[in-house]
Amino acid sequence: MLPESVPTPPTNKPWLLFGAIGVSLALNLGLALRLGMSHSDSAEAAPADASVATAAAPAVAADPSPIVIGSDTTVSNAPVPAAEIAPLPEPLGAAAQAGTHLYSGVVQSSISATFTGVLDTSPAALSAVYTRLFAWDLDMRRDLHRGDLVEVMYEQREGQEPLVLAARFTSQPGTATEQVYTAFRWQAPGDRFPSYWSPDGTEVPKRLVSGPLADYEQITSLLKDRPTHEGMDFKTPMGTPVEAPRAGVVTRVNWNQAANGNCVELRYQDGVIAKFLHLNENLVKEGQAVAAGTIIAKSGNTGHSTGPHLHYQTERGGKVVDPVDYHGTLRRQLQPDAISRFQNDTRTLAAQLTGQVAQR
Ligand SMILES: [Zn+2]
Repeated sequence: MLPESVPTPPTNKPWLLFGAIGVSLALNLGLALRLGMSHSDSAEAAPADASVATAAAPAVAADPSPIVIGSDTTVSNAPVPAAEIAPLPEPLGAAAQAGTHLYSGVVQSSISATFTGVLDTSPAALSAVYTRLFAWDLDMRRDLHRGDLVEVMYEQREGQEPLVLAARFTSQPGTATEQVYTAFRWQAPGDRFPSYWSPDGTEVPKRLVSGPLADYEQITSLLKDRPTHEGMDFKTPMGTPVEAPRAGVVTRVNWNQAANGNCVELRYQDGVIAKFLHLNENLVKEGQAVAAGTIIAKSGNTGHSTGPHLHYQTERGGKVVDPVDYHGTLRRQLQPDAISRFQNDTRTLAAQLTGQVAQR
């Protein structure tokens, strides 16, 4: 379902990333591509072949740069000769209206670099939120290409990560392999929290099959995104009921409490060990048998935790198993009547997202 891509080879010149931020030119290119304008200028030609991961960027066209995603701290800290620093995009591509910010830009090196200089937003924070939205469909370390179009409408929040209201990622715009991923924030009937939905009423984030929480705000960390972090994090308010996803026996509670906070460990009937960390309250005792669906705890923010969430971890034979693989995932789909409400409610957002691009 995703376009195959061949990543560009790594470079030993990290400062080149900065030379790649030719936002002004690139923005024009991206918009032109989106508007279907023709490009006779070879320097601005879009990649005609999906196997070519580098598109036109006049400043760096001959120089392959790695596509970097996630923590850009190494990049930001790299010694960059002043002469190599391209001007920041500043208001280019960004528009503010009533507390909501709209940004569109063309990828040159990384999502984070694309967001650099966007209003007062931390590029890393906006990049993390944006990337997380599409993480179920796109591995930005693999699927990002120069020339991809990034659009996001968000609210800046004091002391919190930006709240994305709408986002779109257009992979290789204007080419035969163009792929568009769109997400609108919307609360479905019966849901406790808003989620993100694509225009056809499909939920953008996937869910675990029989996961530990019936409802939660968002999965904020996937195992594959942070190999040093051994589980999945579900952002959810304090006191959210935590269910035993499968039948099993409580093998431990509250070990290593300084790090884990209140915690419960279950051994499922298939031998898989499941850990539930940072709980506010444990409701089971060591040795207790639990049926699938039993409420074993209330979620919390105890131990080494920076905000209310549940850390869920699964292990087999002493090795961490990705809960995504162990449980499998599903994607919810809105019913037809909900789809029309969703489309009504997000019409303005959709128009703004598209309008912003069309104007330029
Ligand atoms: Zn965690």
